[in-house]
Amino acid sequence: MSSPERVKIVVIGAGQAGLSVAYYLRRFELVAGEDFVMLDRAPGPGGAWQHRWSSLRLGTAHRVNDLPGMSELGLSFDTADRTLPAREVVADYYGRFERQYELRVRRPMDVRSVTNEGPDLLVRYDDLSPQPIEEQQARGFFGRRRKSFQEPPEPKAPRHEIAAQFLVNATGTWGSPFVPYYPGMADFAGRHVHTSDFAEAEDFRGKNVVVVGGGTSAIGFMLELEGVAAGLTWVSRRPIDWLDRQELDLEGASAAVAMQDEAARSGRALPSIVSGTGVPKSRRIAAGIERGLLVARPMFDRIAADRVIWDAHGESPADEVPADAIIWATGFRPELRHLSPLRLREKAGGVTVGQGASWNDPRIFLAGYGPQASTIGASRAGRMIARQIMAML
Ligand code: FAD
Repeated sequence: MSSPERVKIVVIGAGQAGLSVAYYLRRFELVAGEDFVMLDRAPGPGGAWQHRWSSLRLGTAHRVNDLPGMSELGLSFDTADRTLPAREVVADYYGRFERQYELRVRRPMDVRSVTNEGPDLLVRYDDLSPQPIEEQQARGFFGRRRKSFQEPPEPKAPRHEIAAQFLVNATGTWGSPFVPYYPGMADFAGRHVHTSDFAEAEDFRGKNVVVVGGGTSAIGFMLELEGVAAGLTWVSRRPIDWLDRQELDLEGASAAVAMQDEAARSGRALPSIVSGTGVPKSRRIAAGIERGLLVARPMFDRIAADRVIWDAHGESPADEVPADAIIWATGFRPELRHLSPLRLREKAGGVTVGQGASWNDPRIFLAGYGPQASTIGASRAGRMIARQIMAML
C-alpha cells in the first residue's frame, strides 16, 4: 500500500453528531477543503435514521432537534412533514445540509481500525461501494460485522489509509445492538429480531410475538403489532416508570443526562437513558394502557423452541406463552470496535470522556457519546469539540 493520505482532522460518522462537528470546524475556519475528511459506512445521508423502520414518524419518537445552521437553510424538523417516514425526512434534510455546507462525506466507507502511529492517528477503512450488493449483504446489514463464523467469509474490499492529527469519532450506536442473554436463546426455533432489524409490522402478521424492553421502541412495536400479531406479549426487565405527562420530563431528562455524563467521566459503562427519564404517557400510550395492551409482564426466565417460560417463583406459578418471534427492543451500545487498538476502554467498561474529549488521548474526541447521545446533545457537541480543537491548533 502506498503512503497514506495526510489530513488535519478525520470525522468518522455523518449522523447528527458528525455533521454538527463538521459544521463548526468549517464555521471556525479550522479546516478548508483538503485537510478534513468525513467517512461514513452508510450508503447515503441520514445517519442511523436512514435505517429505521418505515412506519416511524418524526414525533412518534422523542423530539428531533435541528442541526446548527439548519435554520439558515430554512429547514427545521419542527415544521417537517410528519406524514412521511422519519427516515426519509431526516435523510433529505441531512443531504441538503451536507450539500449546502459542502461537507463532502466519503461513503460508503467502513472504518475498520484506528491505530496510534507516533504523532499521527492512522485510520484504515474499506470502500464498500464497488462490492456487488449480495456481497455487502453477506457482511450484515449495511456493512455491519459478521455475527458468527458460520456466516460466509467477508469479501475483500479495497482498503484505504488516512493519517490524521485529530480524530472525531461520531459513530453512534445503531451498528452495535445489545441483546441480553437468556437461557435457551440458541434453541429458539422462531426469529430473534432486534430493534435494528425491525422493518414493518406486516412481517409478523398472524404470529405470536413477544416484545422485550421498557422504552419507546418497545411501546411503539406493541402499538403497531396490535391487531396484526396473533398473540402479543410485552415483557420488561424493569417495571415501567410511567410519567403522568404527555412529553418527556425535562428535569428527568437532565438527571438522566447527568448520569450519563458522570459515567462517561469516570470511564464506566453507560447506563440506560430510559431508566433515568421515565416514559411519558402520550394520549396514544395512555389509551393503550387503558385497554390493557401496554401492560408489561416481568421478564421471562427462559426460552424454549416455540415459547418463553416463567418459572415458578414464591407465590407466582410457572407460566408460558407461545412465541414465533421475540423482538428485542433492548437498546444499543456505543459503536467503538474500530477504536479498540487505541486501548481507550477502561476496566470499568466505558471510555473516559468529558465534554466530548477522550481523557486518555487529547487528539481524540467522541461526539454523540454518553450525555451527547440525543439529537440535542449531538448538535451541541459540534461547537464544544470544535472549540477544543481550535485551542490545540
Ligand atoms: P448516528 O445517527 O447513528 O450516526 C452515526 C453514523 O456513523 C452512521 O451514519 C453510521 O453509518 C456511521 N458509522 C458507524 N460506525 C462506522 C464505522 N466504523 N465506519 C464508518 N462509519 C460508521 N434522539 C432524539 O433526540 N430524538 C428522537 O426522537 C430519537 N429517536 C430515536 C429512535 C430510535 C429508534 C433510536 C435507536 C434512537 C433515537 N434517538 C433519538 C437517539 C438518536 O438517534 C441519536 O441521539 C442521534 O440521532 C444520534 O446521532 P449520531 O450522529 O450520534 O449517530
